[in-house]
Amino acid sequence: MPADTPITQDVMTIPRKMPEGKINIVGLTRDGLREALIAHGTPEKQARMRTGQIWQWVYQWGVRDFSEMTNLAKAYRADLAEHFEIRIPEIVSKQVSSDGTRKYLARIAGGHEVEVVYIPEADRGTLCISSQVGCTLTCSFCHTGTQKLVRNLTAGEIVGQVMMARDDLGEWPEQGAPKDETRLLSNIVLMGMGEPLYNFENVRDAMKIAMDGEGISLSRRRITLSTSGVVPEIAKTAEEIGCLLAVSFHATTDEVRDKLVPINRKWNIEALLGALRDYPRLSNSERITFEYVMLKDVNDSDEDARRLVQLIKGIPAKINLIPFNEWPGAPYERSTPERIRRFADIIYKAGYASPIRTPRGEDIMAACGQLKSATERARKSRRQIADETGLPS
Ligand code: SAH
Ligand code: SF4
Repeated sequence: MPADTPITQDVMTIPRKMPEGKINIVGLTRDGLREALIAHGTPEKQARMRTGQIWQWVYQWGVRDFSEMTNLAKAYRADLAEHFEIRIPEIVSKQVSSDGTRKYLARIAGGHEVEVVYIPEADRGTLCISSQVGCTLTCSFCHTGTQKLVRNLTAGEIVGQVMMARDDLGEWPEQGAPKDETRLLSNIVLMGMGEPLYNFENVRDAMKIAMDGEGISLSRRRITLSTSGVVPEIAKTAEEIGCLLAVSFHATTDEVRDKLVPINRKWNIEALLGALRDYPRLSNSERITFEYVMLKDVNDSDEDARRLVQLIKGIPAKINLIPFNEWPGAPYERSTPERIRRFADIIYKAGYASPIRTPRGEDIMAACGQLKSATERARKSRRQIADETGLPS
C-alpha cells in the first residue's frame, strides 16, 4: 500500500431513530435524553428530573418496560412508551467454555451480529465488547481483520452489550439493596471486534454511560480501550473518556509492524510512542498496557525483547504477552512456551511487568483475535489482505 493511501473509514452508523420507529433510550447521553424528552412533550422544567429518574430505572435497575417505572405518573409512562423504547442487542447464541468463559453472539439492528466474551476470574469478571461489525484494518494475525467492516456500532449497541451480559449473569441489583461492590461483571475491555478509535463518539458516549455513578457505575480504572494505534485519537481518549489504554504494539521495527499492524504505515512506531508518552499525564492514569502477540520467528527474538524495552523507556507501562491464538487459515504460528518465557524474562529484568496472557475460551474460539461473525458474508479477498500486509496471497 503506498504511504499516501488513506486508511479508509468507510463507515456508517445507522440513525438511532428508524423511519416511523421509536427513539431508543439506551445510548443517549444524559443531555440527549433530556432533549428528546422535551421534544416529545415533557415540560422543560421537569426534564432534568425525569431524565434522572428514567436513567436510574434503565441503568441502575435494568428495567426495560416503562410501566415498571413506578415513580412516574401512569399517563406519563404511557406517553413515554408511545415515543420511546429501551432496546439492547439480543443474544442469538451463547457458548460456555470448559474454563467458564462465555461467548455470546449478539444480534443488532439490520440483522448484523457481533461477538461478546465474558471472562470470569478469581477476583473479577471481564467483559470483552465489540465496537464495530468487522474492521477496516487488516492486521495479518487477526481473524476479525479478514472480515470487511460492515458498520460502526451505535452507542446503544456498545453499552447494550454490557446490559445484555448483566441480564445473562442475573446481575441487576434488587432495588433498595445495599451497593454491592463484588460484581460478576467488574471490568470492561474494548478488545472485541473492531477498532474503537475509528468509532470514537459512539465508544465515548457508551463508556460515559457505563461510568455514570447513577447507573452501571464502573470506575474509569476498570475500563480498558485497546487501539491498534490511531494516533490522533489517543489524546482525545484521555481527555474525553479517561479510561485506561492498551495498545497493540506487536513489533519493534517499522518494517515488521508495517506487516503485522498496517496502520503503522500511516502512524509509525515513533509517532505512536510520542502520543503514548503524553497519555498518562493527560488522563492521570496508571500504566499503559502494551499488547504483544507472540508469533514464532516473526517478532519473538531476544533482540526484539531488548529493543522493546529501549523503545518504551520513560513510559509507565506493562507488557502483556499474548500467545498467538490460531484460527483457520492463519499465516502464523504461536511462539514456543520457552521462547515466550525467555522474552518475558528479559522485559521483567528491565523493570516492567510482563504477564503472559493465558488464552481463555479457546475451545469455543473466544480468545483474543479469534472473533469473526461466521454469518457475515463480506470477506476481504486474499488479494486485498496480501496487498495491505505484504504477505503472499
Ligand atoms: N482493534 C483493537 C482491539 C481489538 S483486538 C486493537 O487492535 O487493539 C484485541 C487484541 O487482540 C489486540 O491487541 C490484537 O492485536 C490482539 N489479537 C488479534 N488477533 C490475535 C490473535 N490471533 N492472537 C492473539 N492476539 C490477537
Ligand atoms: Fe482490527 Fe484490532 Fe483486528 Fe487489527 S487487531 S484487524 S485493528 S480488530
